[in-house]
Amino acid sequence: MKRISIFGSTGSIGESTVDLIARAPEDYDVVVLTGGRNVVRLAEQAIALRADLAVTCYPDKKQELESRLSGSGIAVAAGPEAIVEAAARPADWLMSAIVGAAGLPPGLAALEQGTTLALANKESLVCAGELLMRTARAHSATILPVDSEHSAVAQALVGEDISSVERVIITASGGAFRDWPLERLVEATPEQASTHPNWAMGQRITVDSASMFNKALELIETREYFGFSPEQIEVVVHPQSLIHAMVGFRDGALMAHMGPADMRHAIGYALHYPERRTLPVERLDLVAIGKLEFRAPCEERWPALRLSREVMATRGLAGAVFNAAKEHALDAFLDRRIRFTDMVAVVEEVLEAMDRDGMLDCEQMTLDAVLQTDHLARIRAAEIVAHLKTDA
Ligand code: NAD
Ligand code: MG
Repeated sequence: MKRISIFGSTGSIGESTVDLIARAPEDYDVVVLTGGRNVVRLAEQAIALRADLAVTCYPDKKQELESRLSGSGIAVAAGPEAIVEAAARPADWLMSAIVGAAGLPPGLAALEQGTTLALANKESLVCAGELLMRTARAHSATILPVDSEHSAVAQALVGEDISSVERVIITASGGAFRDWPLERLVEATPEQASTHPNWAMGQRITVDSASMFNKALELIETREYFGFSPEQIEVVVHPQSLIHAMVGFRDGALMAHMGPADMRHAIGYALHYPERRTLPVERLDLVAIGKLEFRAPCEERWPALRLSREVMATRGLAGAVFNAAKEHALDAFLDRRIRFTDMVAVVEEVLEAMDRDGMLDCEQMTLDAVLQTDHLARIRAAEIVAHLKTDA
């Protein structure tokens, strides 16, 4: 029986993972489930999957979780430290599906135990790619990408010599505003940005898709995980989201990975890796689809892509600053303190200020340095947000 844990089990990726596990409960021994405010759902999942331990990241929710699980024999814990401790519990496979930089400490703790990390939490690669990959190597632990594009690239690379790769193309749907007139973006509301043409996902990644910050994070993720140079990595807008990524080889061949917009494919691939098992996802009807559409990404519409290229060129702690400033700017937009188009301006200003102060360089990346930089970047972002005069 495979011992598995799901971090962020109550979120969109978490629920899709729970769905796959619940279809074959006899194959899995569920060790830990973690969630946030929704302890009702966390308790339901823990009982259904017979988990050993359920953890909420909010200490004020511990009592409610305890009372929901009383008599079940399931242990309960709460708070960010408890999440990290739970990640160090022996397990064979751990789904990292917490949203944001908060996913980094538990991901590292799992790798230090040699646990296979199924990584949906792209923010950890963006903040600390070098540290994460180094920790995996030091403990002979495997990281399996769960982002659909990166899972697609990994699948296209099976059996290939990575040095024969010329380029990698990751696709972007274009999100909620891909067809909006540019001058209207300034008035886009959180509700409008929280809809996605193809994928059902958590709210934060959905808004990041509308702003292209999601693809900006994924460019860095591609660079950090596979080690390709920034010039080798391209983005193409593909409104149908049927091809997730393509790998171009030196002989001109382009290997494309196609599938329905259902994260259970990438999750299932990582769960059963290196086997392929039957998955409950729709089979594509190519004749009904008829045509595939591609467009060049417009830099004016999606300036986050340009910032991402600057971060890739700088490396060091630039990814940690980029992600933290983006997380803060996203909160400010969701709270209607800044406009949609201000998010990229806030992130750029934080990057510039911290670069001027020499805060992006680091010789040996450590968790402490990353967390400290993340903290300082959020403070800078808050100052910039406070100064932005806005009627958003
Ligand atoms: P979500 O918001 O639906 O779920 C997030 C989960 O993390 C919840 O269980 C929540 O309780 C928990 N959480 C939130 N803040 C936390 C904190 N500070 N500490 C501990 N736990 C916390 O998010 P999602 O859409 O499932 O995305 C999860 C991760 O997967 C993100 O990194 C996202 O970029 C990535 N991802 C998601 C999708 C998708 O289809 N949803 C696709 C690719 C990658
Ligand atoms: Mg993706």
